[in-house]
Amino acid sequence: MDRTFTYTVADLASDEGLALRCDCRVRTFGRAELAALVGCDARLHLIGLRRELWCRRCGEAPFTGWVVTAVPRRYAHLG
Ligand SMILES: [Zn+2]
Repeated sequence: MDRTFTYTVADLASDEGLALRCDCRVRTFGRAELAALVGCDARLHLIGLRRELWCRRCGEAPFTGWVVTAVPRRYAHLG
């Protein structure tokens, strides 16, 4: 069995996150954000089924997602 199918939010590194694509946009969630929304034990390949992550703009569940590193910080220090 492919190990990625058993990955959970807890398996992400602290600077990793998920990009989730719905009908209208791609949203990026950091590890802490995901943990708060769906919990640390949520499986990554099923995460699109979690209603907490459905898009509020188009109403679609995000069926496409991928792991991203170095999630842009909301309060980045520049220079
Ligand atoms: Zn959308």
